[in-house]
Amino acid sequence: MKKRSRITIKGIVQGVGFRPFLYRSAHQFQLTGFVKNTSKGVILEVEGEKQALEDFNAYIIKNPPPLSLIEHHETREIPLEGSERFHIVPSEDTGQNDLLVSPDIAICANCRDEMFDPQDRRHNYPFINCTDCGPRFSIINSLPYDRPKTTMEKFPMCPQCGKEYGDPYDRRYHAQPVSCYRCGPVLTGHGKEGEETANPLDKAIEHIQANRIVAVKGLAGYHLACRALSQEAVVRLRELKGRETKPFALMATLEMIKQYAHVSPKEEALLQSPASPILLLKCKNNDGIAPSLAPGLANMGFMTPYTPLHFLILEKIGEPLVMTSANITDEPIIYKDEIQSLSGLSDYILSHDREINIFADDSVAQVVNDKLYMVRRSRGFVPLPLKIPVQTPHTFLALGPMMKTTFTFLYKGKALVGQYIGDTDSPATLEAEKKAVDHFRNLFSLEPTHVVMDAHPGYPNRELASQYPNAQVIEIQHHQAHVGALMAEHGMLKPMIGISMDGTGYGTDGNIWGGEVFVGDYKKLERFGHLKYLFLPSGDKSAKEPWRFALSVLHELYGPEGKTLEFAREMGIKGEQVLETIKKRVAGIPTSSCGRVFDGVGVLMGLGKLNSFEGELPMKLQALAESAPKGSKTYPYGLENEKKLQILNLMPMIRGIIEDRGDRAEIARAFHTTLAKGLVKMATKARNEYNIETVGLTGGVFQNTLLLEMTVDLLKQEDFSVLIHSQVPPNDGGISLGQAFLAAGQLLNKEN
Ligand code: ZN
Ligand code: ZN
Ligand code: FE
Repeated sequence: MKKRSRITIKGIVQGVGFRPFLYRSAHQFQLTGFVKNTSKGVILEVEGEKQALEDFNAYIIKNPPPLSLIEHHETREIPLEGSERFHIVPSEDTGQNDLLVSPDIAICANCRDEMFDPQDRRHNYPFINCTDCGPRFSIINSLPYDRPKTTMEKFPMCPQCGKEYGDPYDRRYHAQPVSCYRCGPVLTGHGKEGEETANPLDKAIEHIQANRIVAVKGLAGYHLACRALSQEAVVRLRELKGRETKPFALMATLEMIKQYAHVSPKEEALLQSPASPILLLKCKNNDGIAPSLAPGLANMGFMTPYTPLHFLILEKIGEPLVMTSANITDEPIIYKDEIQSLSGLSDYILSHDREINIFADDSVAQVVNDKLYMVRRSRGFVPLPLKIPVQTPHTFLALGPMMKTTFTFLYKGKALVGQYIGDTDSPATLEAEKKAVDHFRNLFSLEPTHVVMDAHPGYPNRELASQYPNAQVIEIQHHQAHVGALMAEHGMLKPMIGISMDGTGYGTDGNIWGGEVFVGDYKKLERFGHLKYLFLPSGDKSAKEPWRFALSVLHELYGPEGKTLEFAREMGIKGEQVLETIKKRVAGIPTSSCGRVFDGVGVLMGLGKLNSFEGELPMKLQALAESAPKGSKTYPYGLENEKKLQILNLMPMIRGIIEDRGDRAEIARAFHTTLAKGLVKMATKARNEYNIETVGLTGGVFQNTLLLEMTVDLLKQEDFSVLIHSQVPPNDGGISLGQAFLAAGQLLNKEN
């Protein structure tokens, strides 16, 4: 018996080959009807034998195209229409947006093979793409996803491309950015004075080979590229970019990467995944790599070429390239064709006329326990939704903290975490956040009812809230937000113990927090304990100049004279004035920051006196510890009860470290072990008091994978179940998600 049903499918179902898939499937099951894109999702009507309809339905849910994501699927029987064939009808804009957008996708194997095939009409074509690959998020203006609503609008297709685009059996069917030499974008090149030159690709290659710096337009922003094997080139890049020591990421083919780094099967898969992130890999051998590229660190960041243009450049150069975001110091990544700014940063500009609509930096990740562990979530992941197990009628916009900020929209059981923005203490970055937020609002038709922000009264992103005079404002404490991010990511609604080891955040008692333990759930989270407060002299300056905090630690241990002065002299610290402020407890503030403990120990172990980039000393400390053999050496520490809070006192450990004249690598390792043990002890206390078995580890300090793995192992030995991050970073890039989730929880708490 024949039947007809109407099927609505929502999720990532546009720009990922979904309609041709439905078209082919309908033919396969001998069904008639139609499919169309609407701004509410894909709607199809199918007519045929009852059994065939059922089989079709089961088939499409089980075998959707690889890049699609079905969030919602609904079938309803409707009257027969006696349709004779199956066809695809034009998109319809119904105004109300329930759609999602695909992230930008790395070039697929089919397109790569075609590009390198001398017989193919797109041989060496730098903009080759198909339904499985190419730009998406960065070129879409509005929904539903169709060519006129992308920056490909200005390139009318030639007849041949049009034929591929219109053929449901072609792998370029409705691939919106499809183009070729005859109809598509073209490369352009500009010299140092902004003058346009012929043969842009060859010129760019020449410049790179001559150890100069070339700005290259990528998927969602410009890179600065140069030879990674040339010290001269890397030094020049550091000069132009104004970046002294912070490591650069490299782009290389998988074969090249394997020469320099250890690559596990999971890492290999991620390096070649559609998201194509930068992966932090353990160095195997850095022979030939420019010494100033990542001085003194055990990890290097690698990505594989992810656009056709990257492949063309790498093929000609034949060795690893530095690829770093093009930006002026403290400003966001350049993504518009700002020839003047770019020529200040480079010797040559390799560009093209396919416009980038919105920026996204490269994502950065690691593999921990064989799983993705995010460091910076951006290109390739944004704007994929995260499922949130709470339905609220409200739309939350969380604006993030100040450093490494992101923003999050939480609505209808999902969270859209925006791309990495950066540090909004710079006006240009704040402007970038506003722009990205507005882009999301327009794209997804979102109007926040609630705006969520960090409790810190001075964070600049607070200004963005004034755009929404009718929205209710909610403040969330920084380290609670870290725990909230972990809860959101795991869909955790039950109470847990949240350990938030971090750099800096505003505490509700007016002190600077950063080594916190909480107990509770997303509706109510309470402080259980923290690292012992220590005096942080000179406020924010101490993060860049950790010798100041080291001096405060010495003062705490040994008083104002004697050994304090002796050790200070030994470390080359000249800090009489700072010592005065420490003695008098002026010009500073108490802090429980775990990041500062790492800094202080780094200084006291002689690894340096300054952090020339964020986390430099902690990273060196980790690298040193990882060079030591596994051992059980620890130092003493204290756990004290103070005003109903558990205080982890690490001073006995630091005294032990200072006075230990043994092997430095073993000392560094014992520091990590002791800290891990102390945290597990705190968790055990919390379990005894609250009978909670789940512990979550979050905060920027847990980017330290040695500490992370040690703590996870010890917790498991004590039969805890342990949550760590995967999709959002443990650092401040995850904060906005946690802010949104905890705000939703607070509101539910009030409303019930
Ligand atoms: Zn492709
Ligand atoms: Zn064409
Ligand atoms: Fe933080």
